[in-house]
Amino acid sequence: MRYIDNTFLEIPEGWDERALEASRQLLDGERTAEQLSQVWRVLKACLSEASNRRCWYCESTIHRSDNAVDHYRPKGTVKTGRLLEDGSRIVAMEIAPVHHGYKWKAFNLDNFRYSCEHCNEYRKDLDGTAGGKWNYFPLVHEERRAYDAQNERFEVPVLLDPCKALDWQLLSYDSNGRPFSRFDRGTEEDVKIRFSIRLLHLDQQGLNEGRRSCWSLVSPILRDTKYWFVEKLNGNPEAEHNFQEELRKLKQWLNPRNPATYIGFVRYKLRNDRDKKIHPWIDMLLGDI
Ligand SMILES: [Zn+2]
Repeated sequence: MRYIDNTFLEIPEGWDERALEASRQLLDGERTAEQLSQVWRVLKACLSEASNRRCWYCESTIHRSDNAVDHYRPKGTVKTGRLLEDGSRIVAMEIAPVHHGYKWKAFNLDNFRYSCEHCNEYRKDLDGTAGGKWNYFPLVHEERRAYDAQNERFEVPVLLDPCKALDWQLLSYDSNGRPFSRFDRGTEEDVKIRFSIRLLHLDQQGLNEGRRSCWSLVSPILRDTKYWFVEKLNGNPEAEHNFQEELRKLKQWLNPRNPATYIGFVRYKLRNDRDKKIHPWIDMLLGDI
């Protein structure tokens, strides 16, 4: 997962007005969300641009998909579930009263996430694990489920959200690129992470390999950058130039426009670098987010 700043998206001209009218038609029951789906489908290009065609949830490249615009809060009948203790499966649970969808969010720009089919749609992988966000939207406190826009603020979603500055940082990865929870079992963070890993298919062989191979390209650059930084401190006259060159390469791997990067994973590795005390530039490179 990577952080996506969705505060300024280049939306098509006149989209806000079309969305407002579509929202009115949906809430008045004149048309269904599916009949109005073209309104959010046209945003696919601008959402994709924010991550250079990579899924905001899992960071895999999305080649072609008609359904790449995910509603973070579902527009249709909402489902919830419970993760089995061993993390192997999600058991569906009833919501009472039945929730027919966050219809007031159906055309809200803040609610859209660019998503691959693995993350967005219910499916079974070859290894038999089921996942996919679909209409699942579990809450930490089910009793605070919102049935109108006014009460939405009290909800604490279980699913990690790439558009929240801190959510993606909750994920940890082992040396094989597999995501895991570093928090005590059963805590709020732990539940969010383990549920999200399962529901969004984040622990998948192809993804783990992708993270690993990305790091195999970044780590030699990191090693060289550290080397030239120490050389700088030692007064080597060519060190400043070489340090800046290597730093520039690292920045390329942290740039959302890089089509080959797993930014969330690279940032995690840098944030947890054990040499950070003698290499303060790592924190500067990571910036505030
Ligand atoms: Zn995905």
